[in-house]
Amino acid sequence: MKARVVIVGGGVIGLSVAYHLSRLGWRDVVVVERDHLNAGASGRCGGGVREQWSSAMNIDLMRRSIELFRDLAVRTGENIWFRQGGYLFLAKTEEQAASLETSVRLQNDHGVPTRLLSKSAVRRRCPYLNTEDVMVGTFNPNDGTLFPFSVVWAYARAVADYGNTVMTHTRVTGIEREGDRMIAVQTDKGRIETSFVVNAAGAWSPEIGNMVGIDLPNHPEKHEAIVTEALRGFLGPESRPHGLGSVRLANDARRNLRVSRRR
Ligand SMILES: Cc1cc2nc3c(=O)[nH]c(=O)nc-3n(C[C@H](O)[C@H](O)[C@H](O)COP(=O)(O)OP(=O)(O)OC[C@H]3O[C@@H](n4cnc5c(N)ncnc54)[C@H](O)[C@@H]3O)c2cc1C
Repeated sequence: MKARVVIVGGGVIGLSVAYHLSRLGWRDVVVVERDHLNAGASGRCGGGVREQWSSAMNIDLMRRSIELFRDLAVRTGENIWFRQGGYLFLAKTEEQAASLETSVRLQNDHGVPTRLLSKSAVRRRCPYLNTEDVMVGTFNPNDGTLFPFSVVWAYARAVADYGNTVMTHTRVTGIEREGDRMIAVQTDKGRIETSFVVNAAGAWSPEIGNMVGIDLPNHPEKHEAIVTEALRGFLGPESRPHGLGSVRLANDARRNLRVSRRR
């Protein structure tokens, strides 16, 4: 088999790369996924999408992502259940409040309409929250949630509609190269000749890097989530205290109540 580019990993990143290359007119694009679609982190994702970040790069990237998600359903025919209910960040200490204020200024400078909210405005925005120890909050109405499975399906469907290939249950086992030139990707279903390889294997990307002698410094960070049965949505915005290790509360796109924490 021959391909113009082989993308390793059929998660949201690999399929998004394949979708955008397809839109740019690339043909013979092949995505190789060792398992079923959504087998990796993309199938565990809470689906939170927000412009409220503290670095210019992340803010710009997420503004672009939200633009894309707004019309992805129309472009691909797959409903991604994108709901812009806003995100509410909460500060409980002076330090957290100062950090949120700095982020709001940066976000506003980058065209994001985040507002600083007083404690009583936080309570009005989300009456179910215990706001006793909350000092201030921030709210951006553009933020929201989507159904992550269907984003992956949307990209995969569009890639196939462009005549490109998504191979599932196919594991990449090696990469052949001559100097800096890629020659082929080896899989457990055969060899694919190619000049370009994209490593989109997420948490497993260092393994793929090692196949060509590249030592990638990235490492997976664990998230934990408790997900309930579907409920009638009662939380307006997605709500989270500011700071690492904080517990986040959301009615996600499937109407589950999701309580999650990054360790
Ligand atoms: C519990 C949880 C909640 C999260 N919540 C959010 C959220 O609310 N918002 C948000 O933006 N992000 C969230 N994330 C993070 C988000 O899910 C990830 O950043 C994103 O899904 C990463 O996508 P990916 O394509 O890089 O990786 P993955 O989806 O992990 O895709 C990598 C793929 O590579 C495949 N692969 C690995 N090795 C090989 C091989 N040798 N050959 C072929 N294929 C291979 C894997 O099977 C996998 O499918 C959350 C993550 C978790 C775990």
